[in-house]
Amino acid sequence: MILNSITVLQTNNEPLDLVDIPEPIPGDDELLIKVTTCGVCHTELDEIEGRTPPPLFPVIPGHEVIGRVVATGKNVNDIQINDRVGVAWIFSSCGKCSYCLSGQENLCPDFKATGRDANGGYAEFMTVPVAFTYPIPEIFTDAQAAPLLCAGAVGYRSFRLAEIRNGQKVGLTGFGASGHLVLQIIRHKYPDSQVYVFVRSSNERAFAMELGASWSGDTTDTAPQLLDSIIDTTPVWKPVVEALKKLKPGGRLVINAIRKEEVDKDYLLNIDYTSHLWMEKEIKSVANVTRSDVRELLEIAAEIPIIPETQQYKLEEANVALMELKNRKIRGAKVLVMD
Ligand SMILES: [Zn+2]
Ligand SMILES: [Zn+2]
Repeated sequence: MILNSITVLQTNNEPLDLVDIPEPIPGDDELLIKVTTCGVCHTELDEIEGRTPPPLFPVIPGHEVIGRVVATGKNVNDIQINDRVGVAWIFSSCGKCSYCLSGQENLCPDFKATGRDANGGYAEFMTVPVAFTYPIPEIFTDAQAAPLLCAGAVGYRSFRLAEIRNGQKVGLTGFGASGHLVLQIIRHKYPDSQVYVFVRSSNERAFAMELGASWSGDTTDTAPQLLDSIIDTTPVWKPVVEALKKLKPGGRLVINAIRKEEVDKDYLLNIDYTSHLWMEKEIKSVANVTRSDVRELLEIAAEIPIIPETQQYKLEEANVALMELKNRKIRGAKVLVMD
């Protein structure tokens, strides 16, 4: 399923085209994998609608990829044919810059994203540098593992950047694919912390309570307590403004979104310095992921275990899955399953 150009989803509900193209050939340090499953992520909407545009077209989207190795480049030694591997948002980084050398390869100026800067997993086959693949713990099926690679890994990075201590009160605003995984990570790592979930849909509020939230309410509702930190996993601005009001002095808001949509940008004019920002409140964004975020998340997810709820689609139904995501028909994570 390829993206040929940036498009507007309000008027074009079939942004991707199903085409037959030759099987890619792995480079010396790469694997050729037969894709079995690929998660569908909100970032694909950002690519399609041009908020984080691919540099070249056509491109195959998809960055939550599970597959089996079918061929290896000549420098690849430690991987066997038929091994199960995952590919995440980080397709490659330079390995030489100060960010790469200090464990912040997510900030590398030469960061390449799977499915945007290189062909991704909305396909039967893909190639990927072996150094940017991960073994998948046996406990997960392919469909369960796929959403962990992005929603999980980026969620885990946002959880780390929130710098939560056990017992602190934590908020989550938005409760989609990433939010429902972050809630489970917090419950596991910090059992004495209470989690407050802010989300518009009553179904998602009920889902949050099922997964162990202490309280749930609408985006604009006031929680019974001020919170130490809040993680925002929404694509819009209103939850950001509303979250700042809910923070304690010194509290931190972590924004887990690659791009924000423009639809409600004027909501930012509601910011009042005294109630939203004063008292040393902080805002931090999350950019990309590192390989150690992905590895650590897979380990923690297997340990808890976090078994993502998935909704499955065929590869040729990718447009349907994307439009449902666009229209916020979400419960758990959407995955494409190849035949
Ligand atoms: Zn993603
Ligand atoms: Zn670098």
